[in-house]
Amino acid sequence: MQQIKKVVIAGGGTAGWLAGAALSKKLAGVVDVVLVESDEIGTVGVGEATIPPMRVFHQLLGIDEQEFMRATSATFKLGIEFENWGKLGESYIHSFGNTGKGAWMCQFVHFWLRAKELGYSGEFGDYCYELQAAKANKFGLSANMPPISYAYHLDATAYAKYLRAFSEKNGLQRVEGKIQSVQQNDSTGFIESIILASGECIEGDLFIDCTGFRGVLIEQTLNTGYEDWSHWLPCDSAAAVQTESSGEPIPYTKSIARESGWQWRIPLQHRTGNGLVYCSHYLTDVDAINQLQQNLDGKALTDPRTIKFRTGRRRKIWNKNCVALGLSSGFLEPLESTSIYLFMIGISRLMQSFPFSGIYPSVIDEFNNTAIDELEKIRDFIILHYKVTDRDDTPFWRYCKNMDIPDSLAQRIELFKEYGHIFQLDGELFRIDSWTQVMLGQGIVPKQYHHVTQTMTDRELQSFLAAIKNGINQAVEKLPAHHDFIKSYCKI
Ligand SMILES: Cc1cc2nc3c(=O)[nH]c(=O)nc-3n(C[C@H](O)[C@H](O)[C@H](O)COP(=O)(O)OP(=O)(O)OC[C@H]3O[C@@H](n4cnc5c(N)ncnc54)[C@H](O)[C@@H]3O)c2cc1C
Repeated sequence: MQQIKKVVIAGGGTAGWLAGAALSKKLAGVVDVVLVESDEIGTVGVGEATIPPMRVFHQLLGIDEQEFMRATSATFKLGIEFENWGKLGESYIHSFGNTGKGAWMCQFVHFWLRAKELGYSGEFGDYCYELQAAKANKFGLSANMPPISYAYHLDATAYAKYLRAFSEKNGLQRVEGKIQSVQQNDSTGFIESIILASGECIEGDLFIDCTGFRGVLIEQTLNTGYEDWSHWLPCDSAAAVQTESSGEPIPYTKSIARESGWQWRIPLQHRTGNGLVYCSHYLTDVDAINQLQQNLDGKALTDPRTIKFRTGRRRKIWNKNCVALGLSSGFLEPLESTSIYLFMIGISRLMQSFPFSGIYPSVIDEFNNTAIDELEKIRDFIILHYKVTDRDDTPFWRYCKNMDIPDSLAQRIELFKEYGHIFQLDGELFRIDSWTQVMLGQGIVPKQYHHVTQTMTDRELQSFLAAIKNGINQAVEKLPAHHDFIKSYCKI
């Protein structure tokens, strides 16, 4: 077995540069890191909404939050507002916070359901600090305020640039050029080197494929194969355009369901990212661009671009001496902003089980099993948004409403419908609060609630709920406006 002394990262999008940043910072002097990227090919140029674990990853790398936010024109993100998903004209926010206070025997939703039956529950989101702060367009970080769970909206191109500077400072070597061919060992099939169009040969021991949808190493070279999930996640295209900001940036992403897909709005400090994710079986690319342009709320700054994808995953994320990270490893819907998270966790896992003294099947199997398990749980959560809908106004929504879903998801929906119970599995990204907010938001009303809630008198339940609600309202009242906070936080 060959020792791993040199890592070659193919591709310089967000995935490549994040892998480069982590390896160069944390394994400097132990492994050499080279990154190859092609200016001619460029990057996918989207991927601007994130989820809270990004903060932990940044902290591990020692990334300064204020410096990062300035460099990427980032705003704070407290969740996602889903409009028209369960029913036309209805909306809800899936926030990053916890809702209410549960008991050991049952979750908060049961108390809320009982209060709903008695007629004084209010909205489920009334009991979530982050959700109320999002609605009030407020945000703040201070020792005097309750802790707040948040992520960012960021400029993807600026983020890759920022990570490049960070990595090069830590000794990463960057090579510009297009990969023309890949050389493999005759007997093992392991990748030995990549050859650029210039003729330059870059040898390595471990290769990280971050070449985006092309999968130059993992697929074009190693023919790893792809498991297609488009029967569950039928959207296969996106039109994307950047616009001028139409007002002060809000601290949440907007996801607006349209007739054959959904539209995102991602507010940055200096502009808004917009896109329409759609299913080309029901909407042509030209009509998608028209629909997106008709629904922009600011002046377009760029020409619309069409991006094609296929939802699913590589059969192996790690194959031989090649690990796929980012779009080369597969793609879920951008609906819950999980892609960047997935390669952050992939990089962490790779570093935790780094095969310094050689690549044995055990390390590959463990990596693949964990990665695939996590991906499938996230997949179920995303399918939930499409499946649980009352919409039957277009062929696309009729398809989603009636499609078969994985048994694992069907069981969860059934459990919530019948009993109001939700669970979070080991190693699962989305929390009980996330599942609850989306299930309720999409229109499921559980048939029953836990009767331990009846051990509280009506008056006790009312004052329990009122105390939570009032505490949240008072805390939100004291928060600064999101925009004002960014201005002072990002000031040099
Ligand atoms: C419509 C859409 C919306 C999305 N929204 C979100 C979101 O909100 N949040 C989120 O977390 N994720 C989102 N994603 C996913 C996110 O964009 C990606 O996960 C992220 O940008 C990482 O991409 P990447 O680095 O894998 O690929 P890319 O950005 O495509 O980078 C590929 C790199 O490989 C290089 N390359 C390719 N071929 C060669 C070659 N032959 N030789 C040399 N170099 C080569 C390219 O030049 C480039 O540097 C979205 C994706 C899509 C399609």
